[in-house]
Amino acid sequence: MTTEQTIQRIQQLKKEKNAIILAHYYTRPEIQDIADYLGDSLGLSRMAGKTDAEIIVFCGVHFMAETASIISPEKKVLSPAPDAGCSLAESVTGNDLKKWKENNPDGIIVSYVNTTAEVKAYTDYCCTSSNALDVVKSLPKGRKILFVPDKNLGAYIKKTTGIEMELWNGDCCVHEKITPGIASSMLEKYPEADILIHPESNCSSDESILKHDRAFFYSTAGILKHAAQSPKDTFIIATEEETIHKLKSDNPSKKFIPVAPGTICSQMKKITLDNLLYCLENECGEVKVPEEIRKKAILPIERMLKI
Ligand code: SF4
Repeated sequence: MTTEQTIQRIQQLKKEKNAIILAHYYTRPEIQDIADYLGDSLGLSRMAGKTDAEIIVFCGVHFMAETASIISPEKKVLSPAPDAGCSLAESVTGNDLKKWKENNPDGIIVSYVNTTAEVKAYTDYCCTSSNALDVVKSLPKGRKILFVPDKNLGAYIKKTTGIEMELWNGDCCVHEKITPGIASSMLEKYPEADILIHPESNCSSDESILKHDRAFFYSTAGILKHAAQSPKDTFIIATEEETIHKLKSDNPSKKFIPVAPGTICSQMKKITLDNLLYCLENECGEVKVPEEIRKKAILPIERMLKI
């Protein structure tokens, strides 16, 4: 089958089965192009809750498909690559949080959305990189907070809000490579460019980067907005490199430079047109969260979506 035929068959099956394709900005360009909705974690969670489609084909890593299933239990959520994992989500377990809560009965657990359903079931509030600052600022004062699992995003929130939190020692193996040294050398090399940094990056709590007048910290949605609205025409992109596909299609006359070679999430690249077609055709790779866990895991997500 040619690529064109594969694309046509996917489109046809989508209509026949009343299916929607949701894809993350870090997936391959051809997956982004065929998606009905392209988004970051927060946008995809919202869309999973809103859609009327009976089948959601979720082109992202496993925890994202789980989140869609938690939000829309009546829908069939399919993953073309169910083994696509995430180093960050895998760094903390439900049991870890259970133990912390037993030792800190008055504490509050805030989990970044990059966590398993089991971890969300022990969580008080979820957040994404889009709303993490608002979620933490909204918490009752004077209570101990445990932020899991991303130490870099946690350190960024602490620096920005001045709110004390205990941080879990997890990181994203992709964003961890974006160090303060790399960010500052790119700022020197491109004096005309802004650097747009995802707060999961290893440079997000570095004083010199935080205070730099050409450094801006955003979720992927924020990076897209800044690039579209800025009068500048050159940007250093300090996040997963595939984000540049959407940036270029939205802003064809602007220039986007990856902060470092190889800032690639290999797990996201496991989704291909071929396994997307196979998944939709055979309705396989279903991701379903057990109801007992789902009922608990939905609460911190709903609190987050309200904020
Ligand atoms: S880029 Fe990092 S946080 Fe995102 S899915 Fe890949 S490993 Fe997980």
